[in-house]
Amino acid sequence: RQVIMNEDPRSLVKRPPVVTILGHVDHGKTTLLDAIRHSNVASGEAGGITQHIGAYQVEHHNQLITFLDTPGHAAFTAMRARGAQGADIVVLVVAANDGVMPQTREAIAHAKAARVPIIVALNKVDRPDSNPDFVKRQLAENGLVPDEWDGDTMIVPVSAKQKMGIEDLLEAILLVSDSMDIRANPNGKVLGTVIEAQVEKAKGVIATLLVQNGSLEMGDIIVAGTSMGRIRAMFDYRNRKLRKAGPSMPVLVMGLSDVPAAGDIFQVYKNDREARAVVEERKTQAQNRQAAVPKATLEQLFERYQAGETRELCLLLKADVQGSLEPIVSELKDLNKSEIKVTILQAEAGNVSENDVMLAAASKAIVLGFNVTADTAARRLAEAEGVSIRLYDIIYRLTEDIEKALKGMLEPEFKEVPLGKAEVLAVFNISKVGNIAGCRVTQGEVRRNGKARVLRAGKVIFEGDISSLKHERDDVREVRQGYDCGISFRNFDDMQAGDQIECYTIERFGS
Ligand code: GDP
Repeated sequence: RQVIMNEDPRSLVKRPPVVTILGHVDHGKTTLLDAIRHSNVASGEAGGITQHIGAYQVEHHNQLITFLDTPGHAAFTAMRARGAQGADIVVLVVAANDGVMPQTREAIAHAKAARVPIIVALNKVDRPDSNPDFVKRQLAENGLVPDEWDGDTMIVPVSAKQKMGIEDLLEAILLVSDSMDIRANPNGKVLGTVIEAQVEKAKGVIATLLVQNGSLEMGDIIVAGTSMGRIRAMFDYRNRKLRKAGPSMPVLVMGLSDVPAAGDIFQVYKNDREARAVVEERKTQAQNRQAAVPKATLEQLFERYQAGETRELCLLLKADVQGSLEPIVSELKDLNKSEIKVTILQAEAGNVSENDVMLAAASKAIVLGFNVTADTAARRLAEAEGVSIRLYDIIYRLTEDIEKALKGMLEPEFKEVPLGKAEVLAVFNISKVGNIAGCRVTQGEVRRNGKARVLRAGKVIFEGDISSLKHERDDVREVRQGYDCGISFRNFDDMQAGDQIECYTIERFGS
């Protein structure tokens, strides 16, 4: 593992496994984390402060297990996007009455991309409508074949609500962790990952850190991201004051100058001067990065492949409907016969979301969209993380592009080009035609053959084609800033006064 790469193997000792819990909403992540916490955490004497620290440890058969107490994919991917290996093991919670759902599949993709083993907690088995066998078949279809069927995924039935099966789950975690090489040097270079951080009025910056190597001590000077400071107070998950914390220990610390981001890696430095130099250097780097956002383009990925830095081209695929995914995936798999390994991290129906971009950033993948759009947040994140999103509306163009990339002769990317914005002033219902939005163009221009996005209270409620554009009574091709127009959309007529319309086209970059 990356954090112990520079340590002498002889100095490495076993450390507790770090576990994160992922799963579909409402499948019981929070309840399970509570059940585990109450099973084995010795009730703590009230310590210096009462504060939720975002991670805890339990003891089972005299062995410690660290749980990250922030369920959800965001924390996990944020860490990976910044290069940190946040967890050693993923516990995937799947409700036995509901089965594999979209976020279950997403979690599987995240864990697989991070090469972190998955243990399934088959939750809610107390429910009369639970159907464990059905869910096991679903899991097997998604690449998690139960060990009882000769696969290598442990599936542990639990009821988080009734606190049943928790011991079995802890047992399974220790079994899996024993088969891995989970070690660190408690006397080595001190580093780890920021789990969460915030600023509080009376206390200043409060950060939860996961120590991953070495031992963090009171008074140490640390740098996390571009934040630095001397540790002036340190607490464990029971809010007890600590002087020293070794590998896999989550600790709450005070003393940082600014709020670091979840997933930032922290390190201890000898003195203030060294730490300050590192921070300055990083700030300059960040500024330079913003000036020239690095793009994980197909070309660059290909170059990295040729340079031997990567053996695979990772793709994340989104399409309008499940039915379009199949032919694309099968065509891409055909390409796999070339020398480069094409790995499809995830193939799903739906628009490109922030989560997709996170996953792509963490895995150095590119996002391919077929008949979909990328929402605003996703595009912003892609920009910041240097992830390339390529949108297509013809399948063969998509596969052709990948094929060309594999041959190292790629055409320029497709880009969304903004045309203009309009605001809906009123909506008119015209018999036989439907709803027409009476708009004022507030920026640029709106084009009849352009694509449009309708936003309400900042949220995208429609993306698609404009079906008619009128100025006064005439059909027109474009309407410019300052003028009024009537707009109708293909397959959408739920416009309201106050809606914002963004008009754009999709063009080949450079054309
Ligand atoms: P999360 O969104 O994954 O964190 O799910 P929660 O932990 O909030 O649980 C969602 C709902 O499922 C809550 O109403 C829980 O009480 C319920 N729930 C969680 N675990 C179980 C269980 O083992 N059995 C039953 N019957 N209900 C459960």
